[in-house]
Order: sequence, then C-alpha cells, then structure tokens
Amino acid sequence: NRQILLDNRPKAEATVDNFKLVSSETPALKDGQVLVRHHFLSLDPYMRGRMNDSKSYAASQPLGEVMIGGTVGEVVESKNPKYAVGDQVVGMGGWQEYSVVDAEQPGALRKVDTTHVPLSHYLGAVGMPGVTAWYGLVKIINPKAGETVVVSAATGAVGSAFGALAKARGCRAVGIAGGPEKCKYAVEELGFDACIDYRLHKDMYSLAKALKEACPNGIDGYFENVGGMILDAVLLRMNAFGRIAVCGMIAGYDGQPLPLANPALILVNRLKVEGFIVSEHMEVWPEALKELGTLVGTGKLRPRETVAQGIASAPEAFLGLLKGKNFGKQLVKLI
Ligand code: NDP
Repeated sequence: NRQILLDNRPKAEATVDNFKLVSSETPALKDGQVLVRHHFLSLDPYMRGRMNDSKSYAASQPLGEVMIGGTVGEVVESKNPKYAVGDQVVGMGGWQEYSVVDAEQPGALRKVDTTHVPLSHYLGAVGMPGVTAWYGLVKIINPKAGETVVVSAATGAVGSAFGALAKARGCRAVGIAGGPEKCKYAVEELGFDACIDYRLHKDMYSLAKALKEACPNGIDGYFENVGGMILDAVLLRMNAFGRIAVCGMIAGYDGQPLPLANPALILVNRLKVEGFIVSEHMEVWPEALKELGTLVGTGKLRPRETVAQGIASAPEAFLGLLKGKNFGKQLVKLI
C-alpha cells in the first residue's frame, strides 16, 4: 500500500518536498472493518490549510501521517455484514492506494450507484464540491429566477456545479475563470450565459467594466472562491441587498495577503456576506446530492476532470491545483 505522508510544513508556498512517499502492509481486518481499494483520490484546495499548523477551519494535519483526502473505490475484503466485496464506496481514505475503514463509524463510508453517474463524479459534482455549490447558492444567495449570479473559479469542481444549479433556477449565470479555453468551455459546455477571463484584466476597474457588460442588471448573488482583485471588482457591481456566499479564497492559500479595497460597499449596498463550511451542514447533503445526481444523470451537468496517474503524482498535481493548472475537478487515478 503506497502512501503519501505530510513530512514537513510549508514555509510559504507548498512544495513537493513537504510530502513523502512510503509503502506499508495493510493491517489485518478486525470485526466491522472493510478494506477499500481506491480507484480515485480527490485533491482539494482545503488540503493546503491542513498542511499548516496555524488556526484554520480545517484541522491541522499531523506530520508523519497519511494526507487526509476523499476517495472512491471498491470493497475488496469485508468483515462487516453491511458491505460486500465489490461494493463501490465513497470515503475519506486519504492519499494512499488502500484504506482499512471502520465501516460502523457514522459517515465513514457511503455506498454509491454507478449506473448513471461515473464513480469519479462522486468526488466532484455529485460529492462534496457539488454540495458546496448547492449550499452557497440555495441557502445563502437564494436567488429568484431572473436574478444575476456570478461565480469565480467557474470551471472548477465547485464552480461548474454552481453554474448548472443556477441555470436550473432560471438565473443569469456569469462565470469568472482563468484563460480563454476555460471561458469558452464555461459558456459552451457548462451553460454559463457569459464568462470573463480575469487574466485579461490588470486591475479591479478593468474587471468591473467587463462585469458591467456581462451583467447589465448588476449582480444579485456572488459565490466567492478566489478573493483579492476579483472580489474587489465584483463589489463594485453588486446590487443593493445582494448576497455573497464566501466559500473560498484560494488566491491567499499560500499566505498571500488579500486586502479588501472598498469594504464600505458592503454597507452602501446593504449586502449580506456569509462564510460557510459545507461539512457543517450535513443536513442538506441528501437533498443536494439528489439534485446534483439528476443534473449529471440527465446530462445537464457534464463536469470535466483533470486526472493525474498514480499515487506518486499526487503532490505535483495538488500543487498544480493551487496554481489553477487543473481544468475541472482534480483527481488522481489509482488503478
Ligand atoms: P477548483 O477546481 O476550482 O480549482 C481551483 C481553481 O481556483 C483553479 O483551477 C483556478 O481556476 C482558481 N484560481 C483562481 N485564482 C487563483 C489563484 N490566485 N491561485 C490559484 N488558483 C486560482 O477547486 P474547487 O472547486 O475544489 O474549490 C473551489 C473553491 O471552493 C476553493 O476556494 C476551495 O477552497 C473552496 N471550497 C470551500 C468549501 C467550503 O466548505 N467552504 C468546500 C469545497 C471547496 P482559474 O484558472 O479559473 O483561475
């Protein structure tokens, strides 16, 4: 069982030297446990926060332990009557090829059906990132049909689900993404009404001008994944009583400061600004996953994936995700 451990903590920017590849035997199963062979490992921005030992919403990852992470795979050995060999499951198996799971622990494993939804999508659109988009849109932005909503990192795992969910509610959905290829995909494949390439804009005023063209009626809801200049530009275009769901600020995950240029706009426009962590809202998961599964199953959401091969490629792929090198959900294929 090859595994990636967190070996040491990043000084500023994370590097491959923070990780260590090791190999170990999987222990014999005790009653109630199952052995899962992972097919895919999910790489997610929150993992960067866990590499630090400073306070963050995600608990710090202890050194010398297998990196935490979501996985999908199949049961290959079972000492639990509720799980049979061959069952396909989602869990938090970590950055390794196999995991021994106490399947009786609440939430440790979830069986999934791959008839209409490919297994890997349970780590993306029909998994944690999809529910994240759902929560921010439905519970925080809560848009009416016809309202304009904007999302940054629009072609990523969360952003692409956000687009489909917003269109399903009759909103005008506008994406912000890095580069012409991502923007073309956002409009042509994901169904966004428009997508702005933020890399073409040097400052917030230039980006705000592009937002004005893409959002002629202003912005009613904004789903924040990035922070920095993008947030400053969006704030310039928010309508009165707009709602901002603060989901992530990836532009600052390696320690970059992200000052806010015009915080007074929150007051002037009487905005609601609410941060959230999807794992604290387990009550919405069943409803959200149902809608997301239907969107994927009926082809209304066709999420894209960037797949790295083999566990040894995980650190490099993870660092790429933090730099926007991924196009859609970043995964590692393990078999
Ligand atoms: P993505 O698949 O969207 O990948 C990250 C993307 O961020 C990149 O592809 C890149 O896209 C974009 N990005 C924009 N600016 C930067 C920058 N300065 N540096 C690096 N990347 C940048 O990841 P996810 O969909 O998994 O996550 C999206 C956001 O949601 C993250 O901020 C994450 O932390 C957050 N999140 C929060 C959760 C919560 O519970 N609050 C749960 C899950 C995710 P581009 O090239 O278009 O710029």
